[in-house]
Amino acid sequence: MELEIEPLRLPCDGKRPVVIAGPCSAETEEQTMTTARLLAGKGCRIFRAGVWKPRTKPGGFEGNGEKALPWMKRVKDETGMLISTEVATPGHVELALKYGMDLLWIGARTTANPFAVQALADSLRGIDVPILIKNPVNPDLELWIGALQRLNQAGLRRLGAIHRGFSSYEKKIYRNLPMWQIPIELHRRIPGLPIVCDPSHIGGRRDLIAPLCQQAMDLGFGGLIVETHCSPDEAWSDARQQVTPDMLGRILSHLVIRNGSAGTGELSRLRAQIDELDNNLMELLAKRFGICREIGSFKKEHNLTVLQSARYGEILEKRGAQARLCGMSPEFAAHVFELIHEESVRQQLSIINQ
Ligand code: PEP
Ligand code: MN
Repeated sequence: MELEIEPLRLPCDGKRPVVIAGPCSAETEEQTMTTARLLAGKGCRIFRAGVWKPRTKPGGFEGNGEKALPWMKRVKDETGMLISTEVATPGHVELALKYGMDLLWIGARTTANPFAVQALADSLRGIDVPILIKNPVNPDLELWIGALQRLNQAGLRRLGAIHRGFSSYEKKIYRNLPMWQIPIELHRRIPGLPIVCDPSHIGGRRDLIAPLCQQAMDLGFGGLIVETHCSPDEAWSDARQQVTPDMLGRILSHLVIRNGSAGTGELSRLRAQIDELDNNLMELLAKRFGICREIGSFKKEHNLTVLQSARYGEILEKRGAQARLCGMSPEFAAHVFELIHEESVRQQLSIINQ
């Protein structure tokens, strides 16, 4: 099914990046207003805040619900920013629109559930509101496209996607793996669809926001949605990943925006694949060193020496032969494994000398 897409018609349409910023959650009227005023002062035009929060476990802060909607309306009236929030049920849609929400998004957990997406699509039928669909939590491009199709079939044309990364069992560098090849493939399949990057939920950490924003720009994404809070450390949800409006201003001012068509280029696509593989290499190495440290503890317990030269020789020989089979030189493999071995020995010695 072909998607019929129209521009989102947001302020700064056509200018990269469109920036959506605001706290993970609207916690109090004061926090909402303070953050919004600071963001408006930085020139931000679209405000975000979660009103209904999907939480992994019960007992966390689940959002203020309808109580927070007048605060959002106040943001719009006093700062002139457009306001946006996540909707997960038809009831949310009705309330959000009643309070003048300009933009809605569907969260990653909701996108993963076709029943929920269909219910939202039915409740939005005949309403002309821009809506952004986050990728499902699992790396399934078809499910993401399916959600876009359900909304499109209900008559919604002002559609966009948000790339917020994919959850994985092992938490590594990223809170949610970027798997850039998936949004890149989405762009290839639906070229007219605006794609916004959410570095906050991908990174999960403040220091990863700037590099992720730059990477998204280098890949030609149209926008950024960045969790921004007036005092991030005190945030009621996602404290570690939120930045202050000041920090956001600095991140945006340092962004290098290259030729808008970069994301469609073969080079960017290939570079994204290299980044993904390098990321996997680093994670595999970290896992390997973790096992080396376990071996270190074993050697310590059993009074064995760290350096077992027969084992080292065996590794070099095995990998040399494998390199030849894979079209790499055995010398290269020897060199790589010498370096890896050196680091393993260093890590084991530090365990043994503890
Ligand atoms: C959010 O944007 O605050 C949020 C809950 O995101 P996600 O659906 O990506 O987890
Ligand atoms: Mn959040």
